[in-house]
Amino acid sequence: MPREELRMLQGKRLHKVVDYVYHNVPFYREKMQAMDITPDDIRSVDDIVKLPFTTKQDLRDNYPFGLLAAPQSEIVRVHASTGTTGNPTIVGYTRKDIEIWSECMTRCLSSYGISRDDLFSVAYGYGLFTGGLGVHYGVENLGAAVVPASTGNTEKHVRLLRDLGITGIACTPSYALHLAETMEKMGLSKDDIKLRVGAFGAEPWTENMRREIENRLGLKAYNIYGLSEIMGPCVSYECECQNGSHINEDHFLPEIIDPVTCEPLGYGQQGELVFTTLTKEGMPLLRYRTKDLSCLMDGECGCGRTSVRMGKITGRSDDMLIIRGINVFPSQVESVLLTIPECAPHYKLIVERHDNLDTLTVLVEIRQEYFDQGFDTLSPITDLEKKVAAKLKSVLSIAAKVQIKSPNTIERSEGKSRLVEDRRVLK
Ligand code: ADP
Ligand code: ZN
Repeated sequence: MPREELRMLQGKRLHKVVDYVYHNVPFYREKMQAMDITPDDIRSVDDIVKLPFTTKQDLRDNYPFGLLAAPQSEIVRVHASTGTTGNPTIVGYTRKDIEIWSECMTRCLSSYGISRDDLFSVAYGYGLFTGGLGVHYGVENLGAAVVPASTGNTEKHVRLLRDLGITGIACTPSYALHLAETMEKMGLSKDDIKLRVGAFGAEPWTENMRREIENRLGLKAYNIYGLSEIMGPCVSYECECQNGSHINEDHFLPEIIDPVTCEPLGYGQQGELVFTTLTKEGMPLLRYRTKDLSCLMDGECGCGRTSVRMGKITGRSDDMLIIRGINVFPSQVESVLLTIPECAPHYKLIVERHDNLDTLTVLVEIRQEYFDQGFDTLSPITDLEKKVAAKLKSVLSIAAKVQIKSPNTIERSEGKSRLVEDRRVLK
């Protein structure tokens, strides 16, 4: 669609969604009334700056269903983001939302060259996380054969890749490397499998990682981006030019703002991504602040698509860590440590990236009384480290290295951020 026509369509849809939330979501009506605006003030895309922002905190304050615009009877699916310091955020979808989601996913997959002739494995987690089911229905909608492998049981997955001749896969980039490692340990190589296309997202990744995955799995690796609040995977996707990810702009209207002043920024400028859903019925959001840092790229793309592109996500402005594709909050680690009597509530998380794989090291102090009881010898310390690691693994579902420290050796801090040392350098 020519850009001008697209902007007209977006303007029309924007007016409609604003009118819809104004009449169905008290939160938005009150905000708009306080700003002295009505849906009639929103007639084109340019009017978007008049609208209020929505934050993750707003979702938490209205937990669980306060921001739903459709009646409960119209909701056919519920997803959630990972639990946090506060309440997890819940999203609800109507049947039409699910159809549009699948349609957007189908656009991504066909842009990667996936067709009805492909067997496509979904190795995102199935469950409340939007990755698994989101991609799943897109593959079915396209007419390719979906293999709902999910995560875990990696050796079995490698065997499936080989035996079924699977040609496409979606997972986090770090899981792709884990698959490659597992395959190599099993004595197999990329020549034993038929993977041709990979759709990778849900966590930041780099060009180096792309090359590494492509070399080890023998496929072409594409980016896919999304977030549960807006829809799930499919908000944007790479085309064959791989120069930014095309946003499904007829459904998700993007903006880039200065994260501090909230002023809109121009094309090419780095800032926080903000999305307004243009067609969602279940939980439409106005100007949702993603906290993802990126930029918008205009100009024609060699592939012929006219939709705007977004650059790589260069970081996230909130406190959540994404380690090997799994969300980890320092508070979750803390809550695990606090169930172990020997552990003092003084800890530090160190996140590093070795050979493109994320590692988490948890340093935690032993309580003075246990220390005094002779824990300063090697073997009980090792046992305790093992015990803490096992517990962290069962709660967070990620492996962490644990180092028990003597009392008063970890620096104290008031703020949350200093609990985490993220040493990952994205190259
Ligand atoms: P949350 O992680 O906020 O609980 P989601 O599970 O829906 O919610 O994850 C969405 C987040 O994952 C995005 O906001 C972004 O930070 C990250 N993400 C998703 N896709 C990508 C990608 N392709 N590149 C970098 N980061 C991504
Ligand atoms: Zn393109």
